[in-house]
Amino acid sequence: MQNPCQASTGEELARVVSASPEELHTTLDKAREAYKAFRLVPAPRRGEVLRQIREEKADLGALVSLEMGKIRSEGAGEVQEIVDILDYGVGLSRMMNGRVVASERPGHSILEIPNPLGVVAVLSAFNFPVAVYGWNLALSFAAGNATIWKPSQTTPLCSIALTKIISEVLERNELPGVLAALVTGAKDVGSAIVESKSVDMVSFTGSEAVGRQVAKTVQSRFGKVLLELGGNNASIIMPDADLSLAVPAVFFGAVGTAGQRCTSTRRLYLHRTIAPEVLSRLETLYASVPPKIGDPLLENTLLGPLHNENAVQIYERALETHKAQHAEILTSSGRYTQLAEGNFVLPVIAVPKHADPGLAGSMWSTETFAPILSVAVFDELEQAIEWNNAVPQGLSSSLWTRDVRHIGQWLGPAGSDTGIVNVNVGTSGAEIGAAFGGNKSTGWGRESGGDAWKQYVRWSAATINFSDAAPLAQGVSFAP
Ligand code: NAD
Repeated sequence: MQNPCQASTGEELARVVSASPEELHTTLDKAREAYKAFRLVPAPRRGEVLRQIREEKADLGALVSLEMGKIRSEGAGEVQEIVDILDYGVGLSRMMNGRVVASERPGHSILEIPNPLGVVAVLSAFNFPVAVYGWNLALSFAAGNATIWKPSQTTPLCSIALTKIISEVLERNELPGVLAALVTGAKDVGSAIVESKSVDMVSFTGSEAVGRQVAKTVQSRFGKVLLELGGNNASIIMPDADLSLAVPAVFFGAVGTAGQRCTSTRRLYLHRTIAPEVLSRLETLYASVPPKIGDPLLENTLLGPLHNENAVQIYERALETHKAQHAEILTSSGRYTQLAEGNFVLPVIAVPKHADPGLAGSMWSTETFAPILSVAVFDELEQAIEWNNAVPQGLSSSLWTRDVRHIGQWLGPAGSDTGIVNVNVGTSGAEIGAAFGGNKSTGWGRESGGDAWKQYVRWSAATINFSDAAPLAQGVSFAP
């Protein structure tokens, strides 16, 4: 089936063929065959192939901007993230170490051994059309797996371009292209992958609603699943914060990428004493945006379009709910009508009537994937941390303060419960070195750096007896 593929500004760019069920199953069979040979290739040799992919230095940033809608510097930044994680994968290929564990039995040794896992499927979201795949591929490939990618149905061109670059390098190294296979298509293709017993691990990045279904299906067949789902991220600003750092960071977090990052700042908690000052500075920044709304490919654009008409409807519905719940809207809002074509909207600051995210039907507790920032005022840090933690999601959060006692509280056992917990750094964006991911309904998954690679391997605990006796553990005796 051919699907029209649109630029984020609405024009048709191409028609892309979806994988049929037969093509998908053939790909999965070939991936399994390729894995059987690839698992025997030494890991540093696999890393050398990643190094060659990294050397290609693809200029895909403009295509990311064209198809997804993020501005040029963010499109380029996304490609840089792939370069960074490929570097990481090269190093990792010489460092995927197991362990030798002390045995309680004389003449025995216990090894913990990481071996390749098999076929890893990556299902990715529209908002990071290449980087999320890069995070997964670098680790999965270094670990010795075949990786099959099902990108968002609305960003197929980015995935085709990246796969072409990778497949040329694989070919040069006499490796089958199916080690980094691509299947395009919509949710029918996605769910066929998720259901397939030929897939050992599904790494899913997307919404909480779809993630819930994916998790159930994979677990019902006892597969492995890694979930990177929605975020609903808060920044907390204390009275002693350096506002010259905090305000621009909140502005970028809430307005950058048109609020379409999983780490976008959606909630802002302001200490009562600095709230008027922060809001006044933010309102000035927001008022400067409209002349810079437009084509994401143009150098001066600060705010590109929402990804598609569906995203605009989500934005409009959220605004209506805010208004129905008597929120105060501090900025201009609605569609940006100066531009006739495309899905452009104005970024919004809203002050809901009730601050408690725990209240039923509260706008605080859902992720609205659009540039809408909700604000509330607090008196004590404990209150702000409670609000920060009161939502279902747990991806990113940031505290702005210069007081080391507040930092300790924020990072400690009674502090923020998100996977990314920043201090004097905004919620939005991350480097590849640390494990990336969130807790609670964000799915508990970790990708990229840290110990994330340990999920892409099959662990064996191997006890080896070097002695002439065969004692049982814990001193158990079983003599006839
Ligand atoms: P989505 O859930 O609609 O789609 C994600 C992927 O799942 C797509 O490839 C889609 O085709 C596929 N899919 C849809 N239905 C499916 C089904 N029933 N079975 C299997 N696959 C199916 O998400 P989206 O709108 O593309 O992306 C936005 C969401 O992704 C936001 O919630 C955002 O927070 C989240 N996200 C999270 C992270 C993270 O790392 N936590 C990163 C990026 C995006």
